[in-house]
Amino acid sequence: MSRTTLKTPTLRIAAAVLAAALGAVGYHCIRQVFAEEESGWNRGLPQQHKSIWKVHDDRRPKPPPVAPGAECREPPADAIVLFDGEDLSRWNGKWKVENGYMEANSTGSITTKDSFGDCQLHIEYMAPSPPQKGDQARGNSGIILMTHYEVQVLDNYDNPTYSDGYIGAVYGQHPPLVLACRKPGEWQTYDIVFRAPRFKGETGDEVEEPGRVTVFLNGVLVQHNAEIYGWVAYRSLAKNRRHPDRLPLLLQDHGDRQPVRFRNIWIRELDLSWEAIDNRK
Ligand code: MG
Repeated sequence: MSRTTLKTPTLRIAAAVLAAALGAVGYHCIRQVFAEEESGWNRGLPQQHKSIWKVHDDRRPKPPPVAPGAECREPPADAIVLFDGEDLSRWNGKWKVENGYMEANSTGSITTKDSFGDCQLHIEYMAPSPPQKGDQARGNSGIILMTHYEVQVLDNYDNPTYSDGYIGAVYGQHPPLVLACRKPGEWQTYDIVFRAPRFKGETGDEVEEPGRVTVFLNGVLVQHNAEIYGWVAYRSLAKNRRHPDRLPLLLQDHGDRQPVRFRNIWIRELDLSWEAIDNRK
């Protein structure tokens, strides 16, 4: 449209009215096209970080229901019971089983027959009573996620040791936030949420995202989303090394006659990738 055609006020007004009308029609058409996908609630909401959905998006897949156990120590409906007090049918190893618990007996560490990645794990343990020896030689075991990442089990009741070797430590990496242990001879509970490391590309040991772990000991938070620096190491710096997406859970036999007992072990398999949560059916 040339300047000469809009010299008169009448023509300018007509052009403005026409533009406004076309704009309104266009906006109405666009609204109609997206009406089925986008509710009024969603319009104007910002895009969520790291998600295909918006903040408060009412199309985002809903969390599936899982009935919890009557008590927090009981397995919820989607848990795999790894040890119910009866036998070691889900484990490779030769620990003693009696009276509803398994006991380390210096025959070596035991591993689950199945492999796991991201998970929620519940496990109960008892340190030997009366206690023997001291420091790291008192009730030492370990819950070693994916065979390489140890959450320490130790009797620290009146038994100090180096900080990153305490009960509730990510062994050799992170001391627990607090010391929340009970006396030896009393059953204690661990509840662990673990997100496995994600490795870069197809080869090499570099991580895209490190492993992370949150740990409750006897219901008390002792690790919050702690970054895991690599495979458990003794007197050396932990380093990440590539491994499969799923590996067995290992319970440590410290090898020096420390008859730590375990019972009521259950695990929920998780996929804590954001993409998995968004794309679930
Ligand atoms: Mg240990």
